[in-house]
Amino acid sequence: MPISVFTLAALLIALHVGRYVVMAGGAYLVFWKWKSNPVTKTRRLQHAAFTSEDLRREVLLSLLTAVLFGSFFAVVYGGQTPRPLVYSGLWGALEFCAWLLLVLVVHDTFFYWSHRLSHHRALFRHAHRVHHLSRNPSPFAALAFHPLDAFVQIIWAVPLGMLLPIPSSVWLAFAFVAMFINVLGHCGVELYPRSWATHPVLGWLNSASAHDQHHLKLERNFGLYFTFWDRVCGTAERVASVALEGATASGVVELLHRPEERAENAADDLDQHQRRDDHRHRDGEEAHRAQ
Ligand SMILES: [Zn+2]
Ligand SMILES: [Zn+2]
Repeated sequence: MPISVFTLAALLIALHVGRYVVMAGGAYLVFWKWKSNPVTKTRRLQHAAFTSEDLRREVLLSLLTAVLFGSFFAVVYGGQTPRPLVYSGLWGALEFCAWLLLVLVVHDTFFYWSHRLSHHRALFRHAHRVHHLSRNPSPFAALAFHPLDAFVQIIWAVPLGMLLPIPSSVWLAFAFVAMFINVLGHCGVELYPRSWATHPVLGWLNSASAHDQHHLKLERNFGLYFTFWDRVCGTAERVASVALEGATASGVVELLHRPEERAENAADDLDQHQRRDDHRHRDGEEAHRAQ
């Protein structure tokens, strides 16, 4: 039976808000409100405390993103008969895992390239800069995006959902896996053992350290779930020596600027990085012509 746009919007907004509140709120309670948590003491990524201004902005923007996500998919899929939750037969659990992995790989690829593009100096100030107001992100920053940025981040799912018969249960599982990894990347502590960074299989998983470095340095570690595209494209920052050693690491920083100043600094940092790249490129071309 077709499901109306409004019913679907209510369900999807509840789903997106619910997964955000439970996972980001849970991570915040466990790592930052539980004062004697030994993990937070030994494996935090930055010394700077979250200001109430940061937390308020991250929560409000994230709730706006969650509502936008739910409304968008309700408009796209409202009035249609829902896909079966699972397809019986075939390979059962194996099929489920294969679909889930495919969706994660496609999203990771789309995210890497759209994220990298959003850092272009002509675009950064207009949307993605808002996410980088959090230079020391808390778990609540997981969905803290400008609405335009949020829209770009879900558009990929529409052609994929229309072209392939992906069961609804896979999309549901994906929604929770994606949020879990996203919160992990912003939780401010590194939970992975140090050996994972150089492990032949587990080293392909993106880490909180890697994403934390992205918030600090902007031009590195654009990936979401995996390190594949960062490694292939030379944008991976080796972080084992910094974040995986926790609070004693040399890379731990104090950031005392106000959020607006941080974003301006971030935009300036980006300009400087890109100007340096332009110079390097020009010097390379001149050297080439001189030969
Ligand atoms: Zn982030
Ligand atoms: Zn970014």
